[in-house]
Amino acid sequence: MGKPGGFLDFERKDFEYRPVAERLHDFKPVELPPLEIEVRAQAARCMDCGTPFCHGCGCPLANVVPELNDLVYRGRWKEAVDLLLSTDNFPEFTSRVCPAPCECACVLDINDDPVSIRQIEMAISEKGFEKGYIRPRVPMTRFRQKIAVIGSGPSGLATADTLNRAGYNVTVYERGQKPGGILRYGIPDFKLEKRVVDRRIALMVQEGVVFETGVNVGEDISCNYLNDRFDAICIAGGARLPRDLKVPGHELTGIHFAMAYLTRQNQKLGGESVRPEDDITAEGKAVAVIGGGDTGSDCLGTALRQGARKVELLEIMPRPPDARPDSAPWPGWAGTYRESSSNKEGGARRWCVATSEFIGKEGAVCGMKCVEVEWKDDGNGRKVPSEVPGTGFDVEAQLVLLSLGFAGPGNNKLVEDMGVEHDAKGNIKVDERHMTTVAGVFAAGDMSRGQSLIVRAIADGQSTARGMIEYLGRS
Ligand SMILES: Cc1cc2nc3c(=O)[nH]c(=O)nc-3n(C[C@H](O)[C@H](O)[C@H](O)COP(=O)(O)OP(=O)(O)OC[C@H]3O[C@@H](n4cnc5c(N)ncnc54)[C@H](O)[C@@H]3O)c2cc1C
Ligand code: SF4
Repeated sequence: MGKPGGFLDFERKDFEYRPVAERLHDFKPVELPPLEIEVRAQAARCMDCGTPFCHGCGCPLANVVPELNDLVYRGRWKEAVDLLLSTDNFPEFTSRVCPAPCECACVLDINDDPVSIRQIEMAISEKGFEKGYIRPRVPMTRFRQKIAVIGSGPSGLATADTLNRAGYNVTVYERGQKPGGILRYGIPDFKLEKRVVDRRIALMVQEGVVFETGVNVGEDISCNYLNDRFDAICIAGGARLPRDLKVPGHELTGIHFAMAYLTRQNQKLGGESVRPEDDITAEGKAVAVIGGGDTGSDCLGTALRQGARKVELLEIMPRPPDARPDSAPWPGWAGTYRESSSNKEGGARRWCVATSEFIGKEGAVCGMKCVEVEWKDDGNGRKVPSEVPGTGFDVEAQLVLLSLGFAGPGNNKLVEDMGVEHDAKGNIKVDERHMTTVAGVFAAGDMSRGQSLIVRAIADGQSTARGMIEYLGRS
């Protein structure tokens, strides 16, 4: 192990952030890369536990955290890079945007601050690129079989990367102008700069993966076309059916789904053209974001940078507790109150609020009628919201962003054309090999497991690739 008793010598040190007054003027990353000397001290805090819960329970990719920490403490960066890449296809993504369930599962979290695992992971992956340890790894042998992956979000990329490394010929079809899925078009640059996505795509191209962008499968090309040309297909189209809020006034202009708003800002920053009539901006407006998760907080940070006059985040759920509740025992996800970097930049946050109506003026939204709710047992052990009489209030809003999550992939052309079935939750039905109800067609990521996390999408892509290899064999 690293430094015995290192956790007694060093306190946890979190990422440092650029000052709010500076970062609100641009979309550049808010986190500052950690200094090597500090990262090594942070790695020294690891206790090399006999049962490393960070690795077993915490990380969906089973990153070998204690060994990684030890290698970093000793400055053995090349070995750390190789070890990290053996479990995580894209540590440069997970180290930037993963909520780090490994840190919640860290044994130190029981009565101290957990090891700053995400920060250490970022240092390893950036060292890998800086020193050239991460470079194209072209497979020694190529099999004859060809595989089509539809969708280039983290699950499609992980499926493609794993299969390509195993020696299959992989073509990724993506309807967007550029690959990346939510990594590119959902998450703002201030959390994940797109040069990081471009860097990985360039590497995958050098390794032999073919990307066909601007191709909407099911519309531009049919599934029959793919069936005729490929030995197996993986659909990784994401869970993009947004949850709606159909209250009176829903038809007014100025009410948008969060993903539509974030996509436009990412397209503009990425040099893609957005027609003025399609653009959505918060500049000079009072903005209400309904739904306070990751997506809501990305809308907040984006609206503040666009020059919103004010932003209110309205969440129907109660404020999470500051300390781990009995209902969420260690080493599981703590479910405690968190503030994203965007929450620290401004905007007001309200909890236990339901929206009952959108108010309009000349066809455009200008506000909302809201009411406070309390969560009560419905008699069947389920908590349901109930309006608190006399608590109604109005919220000013010329731009309303709906960030209520996603209800699965829906029944789009891709799903129809492939002829795959949904499961009871509305996701694409798969078996233990990740194969859908159509032989030779597999599904990965949010499309089959429902909206989740990037780390889970990558893990799912890996296991889908393994299922496809088992199905195809090697020839
Ligand atoms: C705004 C936002 C912020 C988020 N922030 C975080 C975060 O900070 N941390 C985290 O861990 N998770 C976050 N998530 C969740 C995470 O991004 C998703 O769980 C993850 O991206 C799912 O990956 P995926 O590959 O399954 O799908 P997606 O990333 O949705 O990718 C699906 C891809 O398939 C393409 N596609 C769909 N249909 C077709 C078709 N017919 N033909 C061709 N291409 C097609 C789409 O264009 C898209 O590129 C966030 C989600 C959102 C919406
Ligand atoms: S649980 Fe925490 S202290 Fe223990 S091995 Fe993992 S990172 Fe180190």
